[in-house]
Amino acid sequence: MKKLEDLIRTYKDFPKKGIDFKDVLEILQYPDIFQDLILKMSSNQFLKNAEAIISIDARGFIFGSAVALKSSKPMIFARKPGKLPGQLLKRDYDLEYGKNSLSIQSDALKKFNSFVIIDDLLATGGTVNCVSRLLQDQRKEILGLITVVELKKMEGRLKLNFPVQSMITL
Ligand code: AMP
Repeated sequence: MKKLEDLIRTYKDFPKKGIDFKDVLEILQYPDIFQDLILKMSSNQFLKNAEAIISIDARGFIFGSAVALKSSKPMIFARKPGKLPGQLLKRDYDLEYGKNSLSIQSDALKKFNSFVIIDDLLATGGTVNCVSRLLQDQRKEILGLITVVELKKMEGRLKLNFPVQSMITL
């Protein structure tokens, strides 16, 4: 019987030399383990207190939408450049392996006041920090981050001014 941690495979030097890429997609090949994971992510207390979820492009959408369904919470999206129509709020950030920017639809953000952020993996914390700055600049409250994997040695959680719940720490 496989366990969640057996399904997070490491690919050395992907997408760049020096990066140990943790692939979470194999989890979806095991529906029982995926279901257990979503149940655990959905039972989180700060999620219960939040009005909505914001999930991050692209693997965050897989876990975020399953948690949204299970917890009956609305979800909005933080997306990479060129993906979202309409009026956007945008911010640049540094990634473990490069630079990028994220955008949120202003109209979607206006509807809710408190959020939980969902992503697949926390590394340096740059990505989540970008989303939290976008939200906090609009005076939105962030109750926490729920992530599948946390890379402990990168100390991403130290960048964040809200609680972090990770399902696996590597
Ligand atoms: P960071 O901004 O450094 O916390 O990086 C987190 C984001 O980048 C997540 O959305 C991950 O999908 C991706 N990411 C960063 N580092 C890795 C890694 N070592 N393995 C897999 N995904 C990663």
